[in-house]
Amino acid sequence: MLIVHKYGGTSVGSLERIENVASRVAKAKKEGNDIVVVVSAMSGETNKLIEFAKHFSDNPSKREMDMLLSSGERVTAALLAIALKEMGVDAIAMSGRQAGIKTDNFHTYARIESIDPTAMRNEIDKGRVVIVAGFQGINEDGEVTTLGRGGSDLSAVAIAGALKADACEIYSDVDGIYTTDPRIEPKAKKMDFISYEEMLELASLGAKVLQNRSVELAKKLKVKIVAKSSFSNEEGTVIGEESGNMEAVLVSGIALDRNQARVSLKDVSDRPGIAAEIFTKLADEQINVDMIIQNASSEGLTSLGFTVAQSELSKAQKIIENFDHDIGGKSFDSDICKVSIVGVGMKSHSGVAATAFSALAKENINIEMISTSEIKVSMIIAEKYAELAVRTLHSVYKLDA
Ligand code: ADP
Ligand code: ASP
Ligand code: MG
Repeated sequence: MLIVHKYGGTSVGSLERIENVASRVAKAKKEGNDIVVVVSAMSGETNKLIEFAKHFSDNPSKREMDMLLSSGERVTAALLAIALKEMGVDAIAMSGRQAGIKTDNFHTYARIESIDPTAMRNEIDKGRVVIVAGFQGINEDGEVTTLGRGGSDLSAVAIAGALKADACEIYSDVDGIYTTDPRIEPKAKKMDFISYEEMLELASLGAKVLQNRSVELAKKLKVKIVAKSSFSNEEGTVIGEESGNMEAVLVSGIALDRNQARVSLKDVSDRPGIAAEIFTKLADEQINVDMIIQNASSEGLTSLGFTVAQSELSKAQKIIENFDHDIGGKSFDSDICKVSIVGVGMKSHSGVAATAFSALAKENINIEMISTSEIKVSMIIAEKYAELAVRTLHSVYKLDA
């Protein structure tokens, strides 16, 4: 079997933990498998490097940020290779470039365009464990790029796809995918299986256990992901194609996204083109707008509310402040969060959303915005109620049963 292992920041967070990973990889190799390992930077390392850059500039060059941030993963890859060799396991560390990972030109948020697996394949054929620095590649000019936060998951899935690996095992500090973040609700239950579709929603709605783009790619390439812990030998959770009998599960998980902020605009001139102007300006600055609410207008004025990632609020605020004539009142609020319920079973059942609204009402939690799709319901609430809302919803759908 050819298996891709991915170890996240916590799993390689100290020299002892890298040693632990080396032992696990050595064991898997000795069982007769071909192993490719993708590693993250040691935990906290990427944040530390970002802080270093901020010391010199509020707006550092993205090219240089990629030079800087890609180094974290290379450190871990090299250390793991050294540790493995010391255990008598032949191993070789590779940067994204050496592993043949080509991306587009979008520095700090690049997309993988192709992977030439020849170099990795040659090393595997020599019997070596190949260790690839995650989260990075090169663009057509040979410049180093990185793939966005959490991007090592994406590297692992893409490599598993390119090598046609039998599985992509993603190791973190939890032993699988739970019905909600077990740090918030200790009664959360581990799932044996979750469909790509549901996992993609959970990840996109804030469950950072897997990066959402990696799940999207796994679905496209049909890569089987197994989420496991690097600190135990528990069976993990398989993420794969939904099977016929899945519809019985109404709600499969609750996700929380604290990285949310809201912009509320009052007395907006209600004329054709105003929304286009506002949202085009935001899009030009690469600001992703999530929920949008516009109220019925009266006397030629309307009100408009939308959410953006908290990390993008100050950028959005600068843009909105420039709309003097058309917007009467502007307010910006980052003390909000988004809580969501996800389940493919919702497609064929009614009343799921109503249950959520009643449960939150009973706890006196005001719902400030709502958005729904076939398999999810998301609600914006005050940040201070985040954990209470997660636990309330987890219990009302009997996910702890
Ligand atoms: P890594 O650093 O290895 O990439 P992450 O910190 O990104 O790991 O992801 C693991 C964390 O994801 C867990 O510690 C857990 O708190 C969080 N998490 C959020 N939602 C879930 C969920 N539904 N199931 C499991 N873990 C979750
Ligand atoms: N080190 C990068 C980050 O912290 C990528 C990753 O760990 O997946 O976002
Ligand atoms: Mg992660």
